[in-house]
Amino acid sequence: MQRSRYRNPFRVVCAALFLSTALLTACGPAGAPQDEGAPLHITVSIVPQEYFVQRIAGERASVTVMVPTGADPHTYEPRPEQMRALARSDAYLQIGVGFEYVWMARIQDANPDLLVVDTAEGIQRLTMEAHSHDEEEEEQEHDEELLDPHIWVSPRLVAVQAQAIYRTLAQLDPEHEGDYRANLEAFLADIDALDAEIRQALEGVANRKFIVFHPAWGYFAADYDLEQIPIEVGGTEPSAAALAEVITEAREHDIRVILAQPEFSTQAAETIAREIGGRVELVSPLAPDWLENMRTVAQTFAEVLGE
Ligand code: ZN
Repeated sequence: MQRSRYRNPFRVVCAALFLSTALLTACGPAGAPQDEGAPLHITVSIVPQEYFVQRIAGERASVTVMVPTGADPHTYEPRPEQMRALARSDAYLQIGVGFEYVWMARIQDANPDLLVVDTAEGIQRLTMEAHSHDEEEEEQEHDEELLDPHIWVSPRLVAVQAQAIYRTLAQLDPEHEGDYRANLEAFLADIDALDAEIRQALEGVANRKFIVFHPAWGYFAADYDLEQIPIEVGGTEPSAAALAEVITEAREHDIRVILAQPEFSTQAAETIAREIGGRVELVSPLAPDWLENMRTVAQTFAEVLGE
């Protein structure tokens, strides 16, 4: 009784706080007074990129994210008002997620003066391998050569992207190059510390294989000597046969936790977890506070792989 009496008002306060924050955020950029020299308007594809730009630009850039929280960057379709808002943007920072391939020409058309920068330039992409022991199927998937777009789950590769963001900001606003450089250096130091923290967390875990619904952690696995076993590949729901195979694999390697992410259905992961008497853990590659999220992710992986 006591508990529920206190819980409800707390929820109301939370909802009110959330709403007013949302309203403030919604009204903020247009209504806020412009500080000395118009700040830059930068558009990015996904939420973690907003964090990267803010780390380097500080107060000097407002950031617009095309794929909102909870949406799938592989298949997202921008709304008409988002396309119109591009007219006010100075630069678009690409990262190489699926929807860009479909929309980039239209994005460029919406603002011919837009500086388009590929922040993934120079990054060697991994191939998303089909999880299948069916020879014929496997061959087909390899032909498609699905390149893994999830380059932001690797601190090492985020450092490369941070350099590209710094160069873009310095090019658009050379007067503040020194600020951008100082911010870049602080961010790179945080990335180094994070990398060391992840290495330490994953040192000596019992199992180095993990099962995940959507294969977003390929670069993380590559950097930290883990092996990703995906349930879904190329955006398709797994067949009953594919599910059965993952279940066999889980039993073989004594895997008890199936990872999933909030942006996708957890149904397949739950089915497998039920079959193996295990459980589902959620990890998001798209959380807004990238640094904090990667720390949480490292802890989750350390727990899951240590079991
Ligand atoms: Zn993805």
